[in-house]
Amino acid sequence: KKFEDVGLPEDVMDCCKRFERPSLIQSRAWPFLLDGRDFIGIAATGSGKTLAFGVPATMHVLKTRKGKMIKGRNPLCLIMSPTRELAQQISDVLVDAGKASGVKSVCLYGGTSKGPQYASLKAGVDIVIGTPGRLKDLIEEGVCRLSDVSFVVLDEADRMLDMGFEQEVRTILGNTCSARQMVMFSATWPTAVHQLAQEYMDPNPVKV
Ligand code: AMP
Repeated sequence: KKFEDVGLPEDVMDCCKRFERPSLIQSRAWPFLLDGRDFIGIAATGSGKTLAFGVPATMHVLKTRKGKMIKGRNPLCLIMSPTRELAQQISDVLVDAGKASGVKSVCLYGGTSKGPQYASLKAGVDIVIGTPGRLKDLIEEGVCRLSDVSFVVLDEADRMLDMGFEQEVRTILGNTCSARQMVMFSATWPTAVHQLAQEYMDPNPVKV
């Protein structure tokens, strides 16, 4: 399979130009994610999973905004990650992927000052990438408004729960739009992750 076969606008696929073809997880995830389905991916780092959800997230923004990237806009996509390092990696990929189409991402994590994070939220963003603790903080302060978020990714869901973030994850999900598309990536599939999926996803998510 080739990138052209995916049928997406050139500016969205710009970020894939340096690769030869979609990775396995990308070619399997894209059709379902672009079709609005809830999706569970059992995949490890290195599989190309960031663009597996990143390209559909970018498309979700463009379809929803219909070109109206107004100042002060609230985010439409949320990506949660267990660690600051991983969040930063995802953010680097998505900031780059959004350049050609004007889709803006911001990365929110703890252990650093909130000033710049307030400023980027205020300026308006499309995609928020963050760790559970800082996200919950900023939601409670009223500066991170997730009521328009209709595309959610839980990356490394098993690790997120292992690290004790279940309560934060639930609170954060409760702040997003109830009619949302949910995507979960996990390296393993323990009961706690399974339960979270059952509670927050469609009864029949696609599992790859
Ligand atoms: P990830 O699993 O998203 O962390 O990606 C792992 C590595 O694979 C990163 O260095 C990506 O730049 C690279 N990558 C992503 N998509 C592809 C692709 N379709 N073909 C080759 N490499 C890719």
